[in-house]
Amino acid sequence: MQNVNILYDHLRQHVPFAFSKFNDGEHVLLSPNSCASRGQQDTSDLMRIKLFETLIWKHEKYYLGLPCNFCYPEMRRIDEWIRGNDDPFFPANVLINSNIKSTIDVLKEVLPTYAKVVIVASEAAKVERIEQYFGIKFYDIIRTRNKNAFDASYAELNGKRFDDGTLVLLCCGPLGRVLVYEWFKANPNLTCLELGSMFDPLTQNKAYMYHYGGVRKCPECNPWISESVFTDEMHADTFLDHYYYIPIASHCMPYESLAFYFDIKQMHFEREWLEFNHCKDKQTDEWLKSMHDKYPDRTEPGFLLFERTKNFEVLQQLFERLPRGRTNEFSDGDIYSWKVSLAMSIEAWYHGRKDLGQAACSKLICSQNIPDHVRASAEYNIRWYS
Ligand SMILES: [Zn+2]
Repeated sequence: MQNVNILYDHLRQHVPFAFSKFNDGEHVLLSPNSCASRGQQDTSDLMRIKLFETLIWKHEKYYLGLPCNFCYPEMRRIDEWIRGNDDPFFPANVLINSNIKSTIDVLKEVLPTYAKVVIVASEAAKVERIEQYFGIKFYDIIRTRNKNAFDASYAELNGKRFDDGTLVLLCCGPLGRVLVYEWFKANPNLTCLELGSMFDPLTQNKAYMYHYGGVRKCPECNPWISESVFTDEMHADTFLDHYYYIPIASHCMPYESLAFYFDIKQMHFEREWLEFNHCKDKQTDEWLKSMHDKYPDRTEPGFLLFERTKNFEVLQQLFERLPRGRTNEFSDGDIYSWKVSLAMSIEAWYHGRKDLGQAACSKLICSQNIPDHVRASAEYNIRWYS
C-alpha cells in the first residue's frame, strides 16, 4: 500500500501525476441498470466501458485508489485480479477520511503555487467559496450537471485539453474518475486530482461522516488509529466496533475555521447525534429531551422523544418550527418532509386541536415528493377537521 506522502510530495514539487479512485460506487456502476453516487448517477453502456478502461489503464504516474481490503474484500480481489496484485495502489479515500486535515493543509500550501488551477464541479457547487478559503482564483471553472453528469457532459468534456503544468481538481462523481483518466492519458504533463466530496461543506453546505470526525476502525482505511487515541472522555468502549470518535482538532476538516461558511452548531449536533446512535448509555429520554432543548432547529431528537413518550407538547413544538434543512446524508429527511406532519394530522384529533390537525393535513396535501399513502391519509383525515 502506498503512502499518501507520495501524492503530497508530487504536489509540492509540481511533478505531474493523476489520482483517481475506483471505489465501491464505481464497482456498482459496472453492472447494467445500476445507480450510484448517492442516487445521482445511473449507469450506461458507455459509462461501464469507460469505467473499466480507468481500471485497467496503467502509467507510472497514474495512481488509482482501490476499495479497502477489509471493508470491500471481494471488490478488491476483482481489482487485483485485473490490475495484478503487485501494482502499487492507494486506499480509495486516501486523500479524505482520516487524512482530510493533512490534505487541506497541503492544498493550502500548494494551490497558490500553481499558475493555472482548474476546477470541475457540479452546477450547484459554490466554488467561489473554495477560492476564498484557499486564497486563489481558478483559471477556469468547468460545470457539470448535478444528476447524471456523465451522460450530460462526457462527450463534451472528454476532448478538452489543458496547458502543461495545469492542476485540475475534479469534484463531479464518477464522471470525474473517467475524466482524470482521459485527460491525463492525453497529456501526462498535467496534474489531475479526483477529490470527491472533500469540499462539500464549503460548496454545498453538506458534510459527511469523515468531515466531522467519525472514521472507520480499519487497519487499511485508517492505519494510524490505535488505542492511544482514546481517552476516558471519549467512551471508546461504548461505541460500536467500526466507528470511532476522533477529536475534532487533530483529524477532521478544520471546521472551526469554516465557521464563516458553515453552521458550526449544526456540526456539533451531528457529532452528538452520532454519539447517541453509537452509545447505549446515552439512549435515554432525558438525553433526548436535553438535545431537543439544546438544538431547537433540529427535529430528530424531539421526534424520537415523541415516538417514545407520546408527549403532545413536544410534537406541537416540532410541528410549529418545521421545516429545517438537513446537513448530511445520515439525517432522516422524512422526519422533516412528512413524518412530523403525519403524526400531527392524527394526534391533533385526540387532543382537541382541530386547528393543528387541519394545518397538518393541508400541509401534507400541498407537499411535493411525499409517499402516496401519506397523501391518501391526509386527504382522508382532513374531513374530520373541517
Ligand atoms: Zn477499510
